[in-house]
Amino acid sequence: MTTHDCQVLVIGSGPGGATTAALLAEAGHDVLLVEEGADLSVDSAPNYSLAEMDQKYRNGGLNTTFGKTPITYIEGRCVGGASEINAALYHRPHEETLDRWARDFQIDDFGLDRLRPRFEEIERELHVGRRADGLAPSSRKLIAGADKLGWRHGQIQRFWRYDGQGPRGRRQSMSETMVPRARSAGARLLADTRVVRLITRGSRSVAAHALHKGRDRVRIRFDHVVVAAGAVQTPLLLLRSRIHHNIGNDLRLHPMIRIAAQFPDRANDPAFGVPVQQVEEFKPGLTLGCSHSSLPHIALWMGRDVPDRRQIMAEWERIGVFYVAVQGEGHGKVRSLALLDQPLIQYQLSDQDMRRMGQGLEHLGELLFAAGAQRLFSPVQGRKPLTRPDELPILRDLPHGSRIAVSSIHLFSSAPMGEDHSRCAVDSYGRLRGYDNIRVHDASILPTSPGVNPQGTIMAIVRRNTAQMLAAGL
Ligand SMILES: Cc1cc2nc3c(=O)[nH]c(=O)nc-3n(C[C@H](O)[C@H](O)[C@H](O)COP(=O)(O)OP(=O)(O)OC[C@H]3O[C@@H](n4cnc5c(N)ncnc54)[C@H](O)[C@@H]3O)c2cc1C
Repeated sequence: MTTHDCQVLVIGSGPGGATTAALLAEAGHDVLLVEEGADLSVDSAPNYSLAEMDQKYRNGGLNTTFGKTPITYIEGRCVGGASEINAALYHRPHEETLDRWARDFQIDDFGLDRLRPRFEEIERELHVGRRADGLAPSSRKLIAGADKLGWRHGQIQRFWRYDGQGPRGRRQSMSETMVPRARSAGARLLADTRVVRLITRGSRSVAAHALHKGRDRVRIRFDHVVVAAGAVQTPLLLLRSRIHHNIGNDLRLHPMIRIAAQFPDRANDPAFGVPVQQVEEFKPGLTLGCSHSSLPHIALWMGRDVPDRRQIMAEWERIGVFYVAVQGEGHGKVRSLALLDQPLIQYQLSDQDMRRMGQGLEHLGELLFAAGAQRLFSPVQGRKPLTRPDELPILRDLPHGSRIAVSSIHLFSSAPMGEDHSRCAVDSYGRLRGYDNIRVHDASILPTSPGVNPQGTIMAIVRRNTAQMLAAGL
């Protein structure tokens, strides 16, 4: 068994953990950053490729929830967490969302005004800006349709650096930004190492047990521990460590559903990577946007029962994939099962979620026909493709069950923050209730779904909480 000692152990190197590690190390603290996944460069595999899924996705991307309608979800598993595989879209959250969180969860000293300096730091340090290399064809379709209908739309900013970084620029993921910052300030990084349990004595955690490359036992001793393993793995680790109070009881997510649409002309060029246009008209409840549309993605979202599928696929450059993302009011639970490595996630979409997804699909269909689409491939298995706008109302009628492919890449709220003891796992600054030296600094502490791409919000809250941690002498 190998033993490591440190002042602060940070578990997980995604946006929450990497930010925490960098700020603590820069303030002179002795930090050990432990990450289950491998330490790879941001361009070790093409974005959205099978190689990337093998290298950087947990379980190759094959995870599902249990409930009336199963939801497939993706987690990053590498140094940098999901910031290495995501679309890098950046938002500040809506002010009303933050106000509602402060009110409903009794969060002290919270709101857009308080967080504004944190957002400004992130925007400056991670080069948040608009892409400089033109618009993907599917983005142009989205704009054409939205303009015809008079709906507001916009290009979403990204964590992406263009200056001197070539025409396509460079993703500003954690492995490019906060992890190197942490290391150059003296933090140590232990990759390929999964923390399996925290050992607690009374109100303190004294050590962590981990496995390096799944076999070699590692023991880590520390004064303070920050858990930042993401909205699914953080509750799993805490539950395994026999820490239960309000942990994993109210997982939230943004459900997404997609439509593939065929146009008479080019609608797709995977060389552009992720299209960055979204319809603003129905936010934060509903977001309409374009997905990455490589051939395998089209095949996935077009469904298997389209009669002339092969011929359609041969014309894949005329097909784009578009999505509806819903703020999400369903509820889920993360549970740890004895002897199993994987969590059990039960999630029920609410009736409101089903209605919103249906409405969103109808709006999206309207937009795509307005943009000149000839055929929309129904997201409900067994239904015929739609060829006319008067067929759109059927999209509203979404059946529960596995005939619809609902997915999610945004999960949160499995250890919510605030002073409401009846449902919050951590206090207003991320300190775990009942413990003196355990904090949670990741997507788990967002009280509910933010309704916008969440990485910016997670990082801003984590920066605020780390500042409080430093001010309090850890
Ligand atoms: C495909 C995809 C696209 C997305 N697109 C966007 C987008 O465009 N914009 C946006 O804002 N958000 C996007 N997101 C969401 C965003 O990436 C996440 O919300 C964010 O990364 C969450 O940060 P986190 O720190 O909570 O956890 P994560 O990023 O999940 O990082 C947690 C890390 O902890 C590690 N870990 C877990 N358990 C352990 C353990 N026991 N021991 C050691 N290490 C452990 C994991 O391997 C992982 O690297 C996307 C997500 C995905 C998956």
